[in-house]
Parts: sequence; structure tokens; C-alpha cells
Amino acid sequence: MSKDIICNECNEVMKMGFIPDFAHKAIVRLAWVEGKPAKSFWGTVKDDFQDRENYFITAYRCERCGAIKLFTESDQPAFTY
Ligand SMILES: [Zn+2]
Repeated sequence: MSKDIICNECNEVMKMGFIPDFAHKAIVRLAWVEGKPAKSFWGTVKDDFQDRENYFITAYRCERCGAIKLFTESDQPAFTY
């Protein structure tokens, strides 16, 4: 995303970043996945993302008020396998 992202609360330009996920032995990026999560045999979220639309999430933070806006990076899927 090339244009400035503006905070809805205070009209400031927001700073780009991302939200890491520290689950399960690796630090990964959060992603958006189409639809509702399916349950795996172990009761966790089933890894069936290759069959769904999915994208990494970019987070923009306002340095004045701390508000965060999330956007998907729709240029390529997060999970390609
Ligand atoms: Zn703000």
C-alpha cells in the first residue's frame, strides 16, 4: 500500500507494522483466512487454508492515539504450501 493511511481519530499519518503471532514454536505473521475456522483432530484450528482465500495482515498504528488499522495484503496469498 503506497498512500498514507490516516487515523480516523486524530487525522495523523499512521505508521506501518505487523502483528507477530508467537504461538507454537515459531514467530509468524497474522493472516486473514476466508470463512469460519474448522476444528482439527486435536481441537486446534484445522490447517485447511490452501482451500480458502488467505492474506497476510499489515497493521498501521497512530503514534498520537495508538489506534490500529488492519489491512490484508491482497497481492499474494499468505499460505501457498
Ligand atoms: Zn490517532
